[in-house]
Amino acid sequence: METIQGINSINKLDFKVLITDPVDQYIIKTLQSNGLIVDYKPEISREELLKIIDQYQVLVVRSRTKVDKEIIRYGTNLKIIARAGIGLDNIDTEEASKRNIKIVYAPGASTDSAAELTIGLLLTAARKLYDSMNMAKGGIFKKIEGIELAGKTIGVIGFGRIGTKVAKVCKALDMNVIAYDVIDIKEKANMLGVKVAESLEELLKNSDVITFHVTVGKDAKPILNKDTFNYVKDNAIIINTSRAVVIDGKALLEYIDKKQLTYATDVLWNEPPKEDWEIKLLRHERVIVTTHIGAQTKEAQHRVAVVTTDNLITALKEIGVLK
Ligand code: NAD
Repeated sequence: METIQGINSINKLDFKVLITDPVDQYIIKTLQSNGLIVDYKPEISREELLKIIDQYQVLVVRSRTKVDKEIIRYGTNLKIIARAGIGLDNIDTEEASKRNIKIVYAPGASTDSAAELTIGLLLTAARKLYDSMNMAKGGIFKKIEGIELAGKTIGVIGFGRIGTKVAKVCKALDMNVIAYDVIDIKEKANMLGVKVAESLEELLKNSDVITFHVTVGKDAKPILNKDTFNYVKDNAIIINTSRAVVIDGKALLEYIDKKQLTYATDVLWNEPPKEDWEIKLLRHERVIVTTHIGAQTKEAQHRVAVVTTDNLITALKEIGVLK
């Protein structure tokens, strides 16, 4: 019988995995083929989860399950939390680390998909594709004028994986690219022919298009707020496929008309929106919204599943459950 190092009374078959969100079958099949017991409950309620979480050593989630302090405290036997996704927004990582619970996820697995959606939103905003398509479907064949992107300046805020990929595509569109980050990006930017903005103000003042690709922590403050909106050019296009909180939504509602801005976003403050100002923004004629589909491609979802599973198997080996 295989025993886990340091946990004498538990054998591999007692090491149970609970999956509480819909995940790619690859995760379930791979864990089962490694001899683990997997309970798949993708629609479990929070109350039910709190009742049974202490029976499991591994919890696998996507976005639906909020793994907060309470869930972690009730999960008295938890050793690993796996998030089949690229970020850890829905996991209280501090609480998990206090309990020495390992966390695995799949950073970078949806970079190409999120970058491609960003370019989709950019083109949709510049050429008013949404309005044009709607008119055509309604039998109205009116010509509407957009703007050409070649020769325009795009400011990339957050020059990590997705920001870099977006910058590369924008260079191919003959756009000028300027980037701003809180870490040193000079070398990478030089290699790609991207100008580095010395300050956020410099980027905002010089960009015809602004695109957000930053990671945000729990207590993140908006980067675009009542003060910084003042630096944004009139008629600018703002794109956001990172997280809604990087922009103060109420300030945006004010400046969108003051400066004739266009806002194209994949992320909202509440999904679906519930505050009055959010609903007003959503319905604004120069707001384009998608339903948080940045990582929703067949390829990205499978990659997320494969990378999360690989990382989970490695973590299980590290604690001696698998060889
Ligand atoms: P990354 O970690 O590779 O890059 C993020 C960059 O942002 C880093 O270089 C970091 O230094 C920088 N940054 C952090 N705070 C900043 C700030 N205040 N100002 C300027 N730069 C700052 O992350 P990534 O993989 O490129 O992902 C970027 C964002 O896209 C994340 O927020 C992620 O959650 C989001 N995302 C969304 C979707 C979607 O479905 N819409 C899909 C994938 C990723």
